[in-house]
Amino acid sequence: MGKICAIFGGSRGIGKAVAELLAQKGCRLAIIARNLEVAQTTARDLGGHLALSCDVSSEQEVQKTFEEMQRNLGPINYLVNAAGINRDGLLLRTKTEDMITQIHTNLLGTMLTCKAAVKVMIQQQGGAIVNIGSIVGLKGNSGQSVYSATKAGLVGFSRSLAKEVAKKQIRVNVVAPGFIHTEMTAHLEEDQLKKSILLGRFGEPHEVAQAVVFLLESPYVTGSVLVVDGGLQLMT
Ligand code: NDP
Repeated sequence: MGKICAIFGGSRGIGKAVAELLAQKGCRLAIIARNLEVAQTTARDLGGHLALSCDVSSEQEVQKTFEEMQRNLGPINYLVNAAGINRDGLLLRTKTEDMITQIHTNLLGTMLTCKAAVKVMIQQQGGAIVNIGSIVGLKGNSGQSVYSATKAGLVGFSRSLAKEVAKKQIRVNVVAPGFIHTEMTAHLEEDQLKKSILLGRFGEPHEVAQAVVFLLESPYVTGSVLVVDGGLQLMT
């Protein structure tokens, strides 16, 4: 039987690439994002998976989403948290509401989905979670202090949760990508930025997806942060 996997932020970008790889491996998927139409298109293109609309920053919506998944697919084995946003700008120019939105989506959202998933996985006596952090959460970046804080927070959260749930055979890991070709990076000056990457190019979503699936499937890896950045961290 294929594993059952919930992918928050699975409608496009990195989450969609994870969904593609897991679908190829015979997993049954829930593709979750705020925009239901886009999630439905992805779910249909991958062969008729479940699509759900959910804002991860809303506890009520996350709860409803897990109820829907339980009804339609049964208990999940894998959780991937790829829902994320950025509101880049120097701290002095960042509005408090933009700080709160980033914290609620990137950090609180992952906490809420992990809490709901762990309940299910404890009953199942096992499971695996991968949260998408960022190299910016490890290195910091001017103009991204709040985003960086949310991604650094995910590392502390994921390592602590890994300690809490290891006895229940649940593993929790983080993938920290560098610059990846998605809508999030479409506006960036690639020619300039790629000079700071050892491999001399942005990554592709499927290259991050490989790392995510590796961690989901590796039975002896928990509490790890796997950097997928083309060597960016060695250059700066
Ligand atoms: P995209 O903007 O391409 O995709 C983001 C996904 O998250 C979409 O499916 C979006 O759907 C969903 N999403 C956003 N906000 C919410 C929300 N509140 N509730 C539920 N779903 C939400 O981004 P990427 O694929 O580039 O990013 C994926 C993750 O990887 C993010 O966490 C990002 O921070 C991280 N990352 C990306 C890097 C890059 O270079 N691209 C580098 C390092 C980390 P919808 O809008 O319909 O809700």
